Parts: sequence; C-alpha cells; structure tokens
Amino acid sequence: MFKKAPLVISMTVTAAALLATASSASAQDQVLNLYSARHYSTDEALYTDFTKATGIKINRVDADDAGILARLKAEGTASPADVIMLVDVARLWKGDADGLFAPIKSTLLEKAIPASLRAKTTPDGTTWFGYSTRARVVVYDKARVQKADVDTYEELGDAKNKGLLCTRSGSHPYNLSLFGAVAEHIGDVKAEAWLKGMVANMARAPKGGDTDQIKGVASGECGVAITNTYYVARLMRSTAPEDKAVMDKVGVVFPNQDSWGTHVNISGAAMAKNAKNTASAVKFMEYLASPAAQEYFANGNNEYPAVAGVKLSNTTLSTMSGGSFKQEALPVAAIGASQVKIQQMLDRVGYK
Ligand code: FE
Repeated sequence: MFKKAPLVISMTVTAAALLATASSASAQDQVLNLYSARHYSTDEALYTDFTKATGIKINRVDADDAGILARLKAEGTASPADVIMLVDVARLWKGDADGLFAPIKSTLLEKAIPASLRAKTTPDGTTWFGYSTRARVVVYDKARVQKADVDTYEELGDAKNKGLLCTRSGSHPYNLSLFGAVAEHIGDVKAEAWLKGMVANMARAPKGGDTDQIKGVASGECGVAITNTYYVARLMRSTAPEDKAVMDKVGVVFPNQDSWGTHVNISGAAMAKNAKNTASAVKFMEYLASPAAQEYFANGNNEYPAVAGVKLSNTTLSTMSGGSFKQEALPVAAIGASQVKIQQMLDRVGYK
C-alpha cells in the first residue's frame, strides 16, 4: 500500500506537467511530448542526443503499444501527445486505421525511408514511417534439431516437428504480422492449415516474450522457437556467462531463403492527430532518419537501419545472418490490414 503511493503521485505530476508544458510552450515550440512503446533501455541516448542537437526538450510517456493507443483514444483532442513511437506494423496500422495520426509532408523522409517501410503517401502526406527493421527468425536446439528441418516457416507446422515448438502468444503483434505475411505468401487456406499444424506441434502452451522462447530452447523445454533478431543479437553481444551458455546451445536460421524470404517488420513513428508542437514533431521524425539516429538503432538496439548507406559498427548483425539475407518483398503496410483475419484463424484453430 505504502509502496504504491509515490508511484501514483509521480504519474499524476507527470501528466499535469505534460499538459502544462504543452499549452505554455506552444508559442516557442521547444518541447516535444512523446509517447513511446519502444521498450529498449538503450533508447535513452536517442532522446538526449535529439535534445542536445535541437534544444527541444522531450517529455516522454512510456507504455506498451496497446496502452498508448487506448490512451490516445481516451484523451481525444485534449491529448498532449505530439509523436507516437510504436513497434510492429500491426500497431502502426491499427493506430492509423483508428484515425489517431496526422499525415505529415516531409521531402526528407519520403526520400530517406523506402516506400515499403511507410504508410501509403496521399496528397495530405504520410502518416507513419518505419525507422528500423527487425527480422522474425527461427532458433533451434542444435543438439536435437536439424537446421534443414526448420529452415522455412512452413516446416514449423509440419508433423515432423511435433512436440518441439514454442512461441509467445499468437495474438501478439509480432506473431499477427508474421502470420499475416505468411498468409500473403501462401494464401489463407494453407496459412490456416499451417497455424493448425503449429498448434499440434507445441511443446507447451504459448507464453512469455521472445527472449523466453530462446531461453526455452536452451533449457531443453523447446526444440524450436520464433524470435525477433534484436533479442538474439542482444544475447550474442552479452558478456554474462548465462547468456553465453544460452547462445552456445541455440542455432539461428533466417527462414525461407530459398523461397519468399524472411519476414521483416518495423519500428516506427507517427505524428499524433492532435499534436500541438507540430514543428518539433516533424523535426523529431526527421531526426530519426538521420545517420546518428539510424546508427543508434543498429548499434544500440541491434535493429537494421531503414535508411540505406548507414555505416554499421555492429558486426553481430551480419554474424547472426552469415552475411546478408533475403528479405520478403512485401510492403509492411500490406501486413497490417490482415490482423483481424489472422486473429479469427487463431481462434478457429485454438492458437492461444
Ligand atoms: Fe520487442
């Protein structure tokens, strides 16, 4: 009870401070109210560097993707949010579909960010931009599983992998997007049969996050699992003996190299529909495409830069994939639209 009190007070103060700053500073436009769902502790550098470069102070609210979208809806026109950072196109697409974003016009961003990694540009501008990418890869127990048996997504639903598969919840945006991409590539009928096959192959009911799946493979609970690449890279770069032990046991495979390529998703940002500090918002969104910010995504959080030509000092990214790898050729926006359909499939096949 006593432990909870300071938390409540600080949240109230933060909300009041945000609102006060939003209204009092609109004249000089030197603040930015940022709602971020990026759950990576190393992001701090990204924000302090922006403030150093521009003098614009960032007031940040950290919450998960669903929480941010719900909050924006609840706040309506009173929302202090200027920029929203979300992970996974499933969430960006949802926020856009719910009318929570304002399109911006930026020649810089339209040049820097490939069209396949942003919302469709209309005469009003573009609503969201992807700033970094991550591949959704397969990890397997090198002692129990042959790489050749798990080097396509399709094989994860094959009976030969019975009792081996671990995943996080099928309804998590990372999986909704992957499954949506698979449906785009192989068609809905085959995709649903594949999901049913995966349910039959589970080593245990879906639970935990991506890192838990990797650790589940290392512990022997799972033979094969699915994870985003930056979680693998984080363990690979870790100096902790327990993380090294995990990566000694686990093999990594970038699936579907001989067919349609590995599924790639984005982390991105959009200007809020009711943004007050719009000039700061555009500046921040353009900053995210700068070489400094792009290098940060790669070297700080092990994501792939969205902007071409960024120098990578992070060798783990290429070590992990054995050089470059074939990515699926699908505009990420096409995947976002399929999440309702995929959730219905998950419900039908009993994929939790
Ligand atoms: Fe994540």
